[in-house]
Amino acid sequence: MGEFNDHMHFVLTRMGRCDLDKKGGFSMKAIFHNFYVKPKLPEQLAPLVELAQNIWSTWDKNAQQLFSRIDPVAFRKYDHNPVRLLHNTDLERLQELAMDNGFIYEMSQVFEKFRNYLNFVYRDHDLDRDFSIAYLSMEYGLHESLPVYSGGLGILSGDHLKSASDMGLPLTGFGLLYRYGYFLQKINRDGRQEEYYHENDWFSKAVTVLSDEDGRDLVFKLMVRNQPLFFKVYKVEVGRVMLYLMSTAIEENTEEYRHITDYLYVADRTTRLLQEFLLAFGAFEITRILGLKPSVYHLNEGHSAFLILRRLVHYVTVEGLNIDEARELIACSSVFTTHTPVPAGNEEFESELVRYYLDDYVAQAGMNFDQFAQYANPGESGHFSMPVLAMRFCSHINAVSRIHSEVARGMWYKLFPELYSGEIPIHSVTNGVHLNSWISRPLADLFDRYVGPEYLHLAQVRSMWENVKSIPDQEIWKAHQNRKEQMISFLRRPSPLERRQETGGYWRAGHNNHAINHDHLVIGFARRFASYKRPTLLLHNPERLLRLLTDEERPIQFVFAGKAHPADDRGKQFIFELLKFARENKVEDRFVFLENYDINVARHLVQGVDVWLNNPISPLEASGTSGMKAGMNGVLNLSVLDGWWPECETTRHGWAVSAGMYQSDPELRDAMDADEIYELLENDIAPLFYQRGQDGIPMEWVARMKRSIYDVGLNFNTHRMLHDYLEEFYLPAAERYKLLSRNKNKRLKELLEGCQGVKKAWDAIKFVGQSMEIPPDLTRGSTVRIKADVFLDNASEQLFRVEAFYIYKEKQFRNVPLTFIRKTPDRVAHYEGEVLVDGSGEQSLAIRIKPLSCESKVMGDFVKWCLLG
Ligand SMILES: *Cc1c(COP(=O)(O)O)cnc(C)c1O
Repeated sequence: MGEFNDHMHFVLTRMGRCDLDKKGGFSMKAIFHNFYVKPKLPEQLAPLVELAQNIWSTWDKNAQQLFSRIDPVAFRKYDHNPVRLLHNTDLERLQELAMDNGFIYEMSQVFEKFRNYLNFVYRDHDLDRDFSIAYLSMEYGLHESLPVYSGGLGILSGDHLKSASDMGLPLTGFGLLYRYGYFLQKINRDGRQEEYYHENDWFSKAVTVLSDEDGRDLVFKLMVRNQPLFFKVYKVEVGRVMLYLMSTAIEENTEEYRHITDYLYVADRTTRLLQEFLLAFGAFEITRILGLKPSVYHLNEGHSAFLILRRLVHYVTVEGLNIDEARELIACSSVFTTHTPVPAGNEEFESELVRYYLDDYVAQAGMNFDQFAQYANPGESGHFSMPVLAMRFCSHINAVSRIHSEVARGMWYKLFPELYSGEIPIHSVTNGVHLNSWISRPLADLFDRYVGPEYLHLAQVRSMWENVKSIPDQEIWKAHQNRKEQMISFLRRPSPLERRQETGGYWRAGHNNHAINHDHLVIGFARRFASYKRPTLLLHNPERLLRLLTDEERPIQFVFAGKAHPADDRGKQFIFELLKFARENKVEDRFVFLENYDINVARHLVQGVDVWLNNPISPLEASGTSGMKAGMNGVLNLSVLDGWWPECETTRHGWAVSAGMYQSDPELRDAMDADEIYELLENDIAPLFYQRGQDGIPMEWVARMKRSIYDVGLNFNTHRMLHDYLEEFYLPAAERYKLLSRNKNKRLKELLEGCQGVKKAWDAIKFVGQSMEIPPDLTRGSTVRIKADVFLDNASEQLFRVEAFYIYKEKQFRNVPLTFIRKTPDRVAHYEGEVLVDGSGEQSLAIRIKPLSCESKVMGDFVKWCLLG
């Protein structure tokens, strides 16, 4: 049976029998009592079990080498999954290893490295003992053996946890454990994508169910419309960070609830809503039961925004706060990260659906549903928008690149009607990737020798990266050639999926054992096959592309990979078109599509190709991370100026595509971008690659590789990203939360009582007069005098700030406070001030009043503007 074994593992529970419904594969009528037998290892090998249970072993190269040594072929076959390898290694081999001094020595070395890793103390910040972060995400991409991710968002969450572990940050992750995960992709003999779902078998993965002292699985309960929803919690050890994944696939549940966590990104809206309910409410429940007291909650995308409702219920019913107080406390301690610049990508529900399932909780929070739904209302649609809810309840909001924060401000400006666009508090923390998971082994060996092994913990430190410059060119080139060779043999090998298939006849790159010539230039393109990523842009001018592919002197080869969403026929058509082009023109050996893009495929491609191509329609790529993985491996980026790429010194190591950027006609835009890509490939990239010195090394190319490793490695690793989150969000959030909640929320109550005064007076307050004196020959350095009269009614002027708002260059602005002069008996306050003129050209001035001491989420909407002149 071999590989088919995993089809036969059923979901086991301690209760014995379990549902045996099979979605695909075969059906069985018989009821089996299932039980699970732990592998028995010789005593000397006990550390292997501990190592295998921690995801650290999947990103540490020494640990990977150690497990590979047990049985290299099986290790590869089992998705580099140490747990599964140990399960399937026979006793004889294990006994042999237990007697092998060399192996035992290597094992103890790795185990010691692991111990040291767990005990590393992070000294950059003196973190409070009670500081901790809860991180919520719909998906986590930690390793190919744990398929609970679909793409970029998941990889980012996974890398976030890994870096938090490397840096020793007290962070805990929460997510869902999908029974089938995301689909596996096959390309059939007609060049069409087919989707397969593989039931996950948790016993052979680095996942353990939470159980009580007697070893019985713990079952947790939530109420939905007075009905219990049961779930189990599985723990994943990510270095020293814990990730808790929830599953409803248990007998106690009703048939409907049992399937909530079957699939990632299900289309059915009710199931999706219940998933997101479970993610948020379940995470809250786990923190309570485990006694975790997060000081910061990080909502990664809108999927987890129901956490806000759960926290509202808590603050209102347990701590006796009112809605404003609860909102303030939630906002100051919550971080929200938005990831999508495509409006349709933002999660929305019909309000009635949310009402149906969650009205009870809204009532417990002391609100009627319409009032609550208003917070999640994005405008016209009247739908219930998860990111909108999050933004209305989080003080710390960020997009994932600088361009994306601009785009996000443009998307969400209606939520902040009183603010100037440049003031909208959507900051940017550019994504990164986890260095250790993504740099190739040959390169990591060079880092160890030339940069020093501390780079594992200190990847954000510039001086460390300076050492990259000292790595000899030959060594860089040799390491890359070595990795390229491995990539090529990988893509020629049948995929594991293929080996599982009983019937042959499937199309694959590996049909051709001559696919991809090692000596020739290879361009990689791997990403989701969505329209805005333009996977077939290269086919724009087929003759020209063919000339590049078949050039006698400087041939160019391409490797593609990527899944189209099962419901996206357009995306599937793109795959078909690529395959058709290759087949019809007989270039299947150099124009290759690799099926089932996952972390393993990604690792091979971002490390093994020469150039990484990225041609989305800008500005629809929020950040993109595959190019970062490539860049830090010395794979040069050829990319549209979108997402993270413009934050690089692009021309120093890669190439920027921008011809069609401002073209509004889509056809022209595509044509211009495609032409620029052909030009760059033909005139810049290929000549540089094929221009060899006497030693056969392309010197200028390698110089670029080094600059890429330095620039991308330093600036786009997740340590840098976590540092940004820590300093800009996590620490200030925790500090404010502590300040406000101390002594039974004393400061919080004072703050909001103070705001009451402002609130009461606010409606009556208005500008009653203003004037501005502009000198006749206005130049840089002149001053503009401003006067303002504000009717303050009975409110004290000490509660407010009146200021000039000065925009002096495109998007550059300054606030200049005006001085309070006097208040007249008719309750009008008089203010004066001057604005120093900066720069030249068209400029703008206005005045406004806002509450002074209430730097709070609740008071954020309180601004009144007045036009000058
Ligand atoms: C890195 C990665 C992604 C995200 O890459 P993009 O550049 O955002 O497309 C998606 N899928 C896998 C498997 C990855 O490794």
